[in-house]
Amino acid sequence: MENNMSIVFDAKSQNESLARMVVSAFLTELDPTLEEINDVKTAVSEAVTNSIIHGYGEKPGKVFMKCNLKKDSMQDDSILQIEIKDEGVGIEDIEKAKEPLYTTKPELERSGMGFMFMEMFMDNIHIESEKNVGTTVFMTKKIKDNKNKSR
Ligand code: ATP
Ligand code: MG
Repeated sequence: MENNMSIVFDAKSQNESLARMVVSAFLTELDPTLEEINDVKTAVSEAVTNSIIHGYGEKPGKVFMKCNLKKDSMQDDSILQIEIKDEGVGIEDIEKAKEPLYTTKPELERSGMGFMFMEMFMDNIHIESEKNVGTTVFMTKKIKDNKNKSR
């Protein structure tokens, strides 16, 4: 059992909430807990914000979001995979970018915590980036399947 979804939207801050709502709607078939929903929404909004602010630097562009939901074989859980991609400036040093408090935009009151939140709230994150080609963030999280169960 598997489900896929993808959307493309303009790199504008008003679409951050769109991305959050779409991913939480995509998860509703599993009847996720509020905590799971909030974790995923936070991770998505951090990645999308990064694409808009850093990838495109407020210039026009598109953000691509892909989601995949798969039953974990043998278990009563599902694995959510999310891919968030931009075709922006790219990240020069990924390891450095992932360090807590590291930001290239302190003047915009960025705190350099985005990647740390993604790592905290998802089970796994992986970043691929190439200068002037763009950045893709891959994230996965196990979601308990609560449907048909009383809680
Ligand atoms: P915060 O997320 O706390 O507002 P931040 O965005 O600077 O601050 P992170 O999200 O952890 O912190 O990102 C760290 C750095 O990685 C950014 O300052 C930026 O230099 C770089 N970066 C992150 N995402 C992208 C992207 N999509 N394209 C280009 N650079 C990026
Ligand atoms: Mg950020």
